Amino acid sequence: MTPFLDLDPDSGFGLHNLPYGVFSVDGGSPRVGVRVGDHVVDLSVLEAEGVIAAAGGGRAPVFGQSSLNAFMGLGPDAWSALRTRLQDLLSAEGSPALRESGTLQDKAIVALEDVAMHLPAEVGDYTDFYSSRQHATNVGAMFRDPDNALLPNWLHLPVGYHGRASSVIVSGTDVVRPKGQLKPSDDTPPVFGPSRLLDIELELGFFVGAGNELGDSIPVNDAARHIFGFVLVNDWSARDIQKWEYVPLGPFLGKSFATSISPWVVPMAALEPFRIPGEPQTPEAGNPAILGYLKQDGPRSLDLDLEVAIETEGMREAGTEPHVVSRSNAKYLYWSPEQQLAHHTVNGCNARPGDLMASGTISGETEDSYGSLLELTWRGTKPITMPDGQERKFLADGDRVVMSGVASSGDRRVGFGEVEGTVRPARG
Ligand code: CA
Repeated sequence: MTPFLDLDPDSGFGLHNLPYGVFSVDGGSPRVGVRVGDHVVDLSVLEAEGVIAAAGGGRAPVFGQSSLNAFMGLGPDAWSALRTRLQDLLSAEGSPALRESGTLQDKAIVALEDVAMHLPAEVGDYTDFYSSRQHATNVGAMFRDPDNALLPNWLHLPVGYHGRASSVIVSGTDVVRPKGQLKPSDDTPPVFGPSRLLDIELELGFFVGAGNELGDSIPVNDAARHIFGFVLVNDWSARDIQKWEYVPLGPFLGKSFATSISPWVVPMAALEPFRIPGEPQTPEAGNPAILGYLKQDGPRSLDLDLEVAIETEGMREAGTEPHVVSRSNAKYLYWSPEQQLAHHTVNGCNARPGDLMASGTISGETEDSYGSLLELTWRGTKPITMPDGQERKFLADGDRVVMSGVASSGDRRVGFGEVEGTVRPARG
């Protein structure tokens, strides 16, 4: 599939990807687009002109809206039909409807540099899992007991908690340093102030498409049909607030101040070629057998390279590129998105279009592949030296964090782009 638009074949945004996002131009109203290379194709225009109306077969318009929720709710047959139609419209050999109409191209194709990106969905609920074995082991070793780092439930179920949807923000939004209760010493009472241990969490998130009725459950082997697509997630965390508050009900204010996501939602279909088996969840492999409702047929893991880079204020002024502090991969997740969704709904909890679920921090097996500063600096005992000579244990005001992701195999590259955000000082 060769696109008729000019694009770098290594861009990761060719016709095998076609991620969806919500964009606006010059302060105009946000609408749904699809990214091809450094172009954005305005789907609201193609829909209004009838060029893609056939994709959904007589349905109400869904792309002239400020979120993807309506399209997400149409389900996998509609997503698949549109994807096929877009590949046809955008390829050099396919339908001439867009390729041979300069008028339509002028109306529907915008340069990426001219658009502002918005949150791709109205996130009704945000759930955060804890599905990387290395991360759970590292945190358990640091905060509890190195000999029993994984709690007894961890290998039996995808541990998670309900996060805060209102503070899910799109890439590029500043993050204000949170304030809260801190307890720097075991022997003294808590104090109030700005977090001193502000951290990142490298995660992969997915959006629920069509959901389930209250009381029903989504079976694990049907779950892929309920997953619309994926984004990168930086789940900012205040470790000092978290450590004091988390017992016994889990994360609260140490997490709920901000969760950043990348603006382009990579469709589930674009990632199918990058499926890999994942660690066997069987006694033969040294792991406990899992219950039937979590048993997933076929490969359940994703081979997706992930990277975290940090740029200090000094580096920015000097024009130094962000410094890569971690390289990880989504294959280090023990529990898959399908298992997370099946577990989430097994009690009859209803998932809805636009719900966001994140994987939990993705840490690889080596020290340079950990997905948080907590682990990378081992609680601040091994500071990172930045290119401008500064040391980092946790984030300083002015630091900009950039996470990126790309799946590649042979000639095929599927990019996620970036999720980035800059830390601003606590407000008075
Ligand atoms: Ca998290």
